[in-house]
Amino acid sequence: MKPFIPQLVYFEPEALRYPLGRELQEKFEKMNIEIRQTTSHNQVRGIPGENELQQYRNAKATLVVGVRRTLKFDPSKPSAEYAIPLATGCMGHCHYCYLQTTLGSKPYIRVYVNLDDIFAQAEKYINERAPETTRFEAACTSDVVGIDHLTHSLKKAIEFIGETEYGRLRFVTKYEHVDHLLDAKHNGKTRFRFSVNSRYVIQHFEPGTSSFDARLEAARKVAHAGYPLGFIIAPIYMHDGWEEGYFELFERLSKQLEGVDLSNLTFELIQHRFTKPAKAVIQKRYPKTKLDLDETKRKYKWGRYGIGKYVYRDEEATQLEMTLRHYIEQFFPEAMIEYFT
Ligand code: SF4
Repeated sequence: MKPFIPQLVYFEPEALRYPLGRELQEKFEKMNIEIRQTTSHNQVRGIPGENELQQYRNAKATLVVGVRRTLKFDPSKPSAEYAIPLATGCMGHCHYCYLQTTLGSKPYIRVYVNLDDIFAQAEKYINERAPETTRFEAACTSDVVGIDHLTHSLKKAIEFIGETEYGRLRFVTKYEHVDHLLDAKHNGKTRFRFSVNSRYVIQHFEPGTSSFDARLEAARKVAHAGYPLGFIIAPIYMHDGWEEGYFELFERLSKQLEGVDLSNLTFELIQHRFTKPAKAVIQKRYPKTKLDLDETKRKYKWGRYGIGKYVYRDEEATQLEMTLRHYIEQFFPEAMIEYFT
């Protein structure tokens, strides 16, 4: 698929005080993309669309270039200590995406140009924990790889972490646009993960993202560039024929990765979950979705801020976990499974 190009770009005036802000303004002017000013991303008004649904779709093609003001990083368990904020929002249309609720009425994509402030904060966190390593997750609030061809912020973060002794970076993507990251000086400190799933899940629930084959082609490139490689299987979803579906996924994965050094490969396994507010939003935005959001079939798990989530019942979750662990042992005996959640 073609790399993401926004239809409309807003600039916060402060963003132009930073070199990246000015660089982006020049770039979008040359690309003849409509540029507007906004005092703050909270004040973004006038995203086109005759109804809410159209506005939502257009917002996902809108970029806001701004300054990151909150420099306190959120925790990012279980995969890292902190979420490093490089971008928020995503152009993908995955029905199950948790950004649906966390971003609520602000689904536009935001990128931050004050990278030096963000990296200085990361360095503070690293120093606080040294000599223990500190892992930063860059894809908590966005699919940052999918927009990085425009900003190269992720590339700079990779190189920044590459120079630290105790810092580690990780992120996950469903996009194939990795070429500009291949020559980044990562020093083996960034784990590059791809999100993959059964054919059924990709076909029905992941519109607007790269195909499985394109993701795998990108994974090969990334592995050849010496990055530690990982796969996240998320959401693991019990569709009709899921056992065969996930078996086929690992079979295809192992075929496509022939010739790649897999000695440092990791898998992370995340079962499908949803919250009540998410269900309402998903059904409004993707009214024809086949995603099964029936609470009565699930187990309720208490969560942060009093918003619990619905996960698979214990016996089903165990079945999912055991089946996938078995497939991974079969096809990738040398890989490490970091967690199932
Ligand atoms: Fe959400 Fe990731 Fe899909 Fe983007 S690619 S919509 S961040 S799940």
